[in-house]
Amino acid sequence: MPSSFEDAASPHLKGLPPYRHGRPFEEGGRGPVSEEWVKLDYNENPLGPSPLAVKAIQGLLHGVNRYPDCQGHDLKERLAEWLGLTPAHVALGNGSSELIDLCARCFLGPGTEAIVGDPAFAFYGRVVQATGSQRVSVPLKAFRHDLQAMAERITPRTRMVFIGNPNNPTGSCVPPYEIAAFIEALPAGVIVLFDEAYREYLPDELQPDTVRYVKEGRSVIALRSFSKIYGLSGLRIGYAIAPPDCIVLLDKARQPFNVNALASAAALAALDDVAHIVSSKRLNEAGKQYLYQAFEELGLRCVPTAANFILVDVERDGEQTVQALAEKGVAVCSLVRYGLRTSLRVTIGASRENERFIAALREVLTTH
Ligand SMILES: *Cc1c(COP(=O)(O)O)cnc(C)c1O
Repeated sequence: MPSSFEDAASPHLKGLPPYRHGRPFEEGGRGPVSEEWVKLDYNENPLGPSPLAVKAIQGLLHGVNRYPDCQGHDLKERLAEWLGLTPAHVALGNGSSELIDLCARCFLGPGTEAIVGDPAFAFYGRVVQATGSQRVSVPLKAFRHDLQAMAERITPRTRMVFIGNPNNPTGSCVPPYEIAAFIEALPAGVIVLFDEAYREYLPDELQPDTVRYVKEGRSVIALRSFSKIYGLSGLRIGYAIAPPDCIVLLDKARQPFNVNALASAAALAALDDVAHIVSSKRLNEAGKQYLYQAFEELGLRCVPTAANFILVDVERDGEQTVQALAEKGVAVCSLVRYGLRTSLRVTIGASRENERFIAALREVLTTH
């Protein structure tokens, strides 16, 4: 009999580090997130949730003694209609993070390999490791996914290729024609997982036709989220689109009531709030131009972004800079865990937030 929980644990879990929340205001004991904090660390929508979504859930609060619809019928119907697919092409998740995990659990395990960009969303590597699959890291090229190099790393053991597009933490995207060529040349038995959490921020001409790949029955899964432009991070809801035989598997692997009633209702309302999406995109574009110019004035290089955050090289210790900014009430994300020691990832906020961030950064750069 194992003498400790650690000994008894699945060997794949043993090597995993605990989650690091990376929120200096919590670690520093400065209490809960307050109004004074400029929160530019989690790529949330600075405009808040859609007012229509807020209204939709207010009307449901007294019904939360009931379980939600375990099939997610209404939202799947609505998404399918909107995308030109059928509800059998759609799976819902407790955030797209749950779907990333479900995809790994359905298709990966000991003896398989999964190809992941470096740097890319840290959670990909985690879920791969948790299944006992082998992660194959492929360095980005000029901060962009190198699809050619990824294709070259495919072996008979490869089951999945993770492509964040736009990619977190670089904000870069790969053009649709490169994706088309990659899909065309894909060997049988390899699944491409597109993480499109920031898709809505892409200009139309840079949005790959993942719906078409799914419709054609390719071995493609596209994940989308209500956490970013839709402003519903706290409710936890995302969806996968994939060929129906894949959706059946994801549906078997999930828990029955993975998506709560408030999240589904808010998502339905948010999809209809086109004005909120348009303003969110516009605010992001304005903030992006402001930050580009401010970085240039400060003599800092950044990676041009296709999302709602920017990777900027502050040319000094990133972790210390994050702490120094936190002392001034500004939260941004350190990238040491990605091996980027002198860079930060900063969410594009509302104009007042961007200004406060730049003012704080200017002070930090001149005094540290
Ligand atoms: C924010 C984010 C997600 C979305 O996560 P949710 O679970 O839907 O909140 C997924 N992938 C990446 C790369 C992200 O940055």
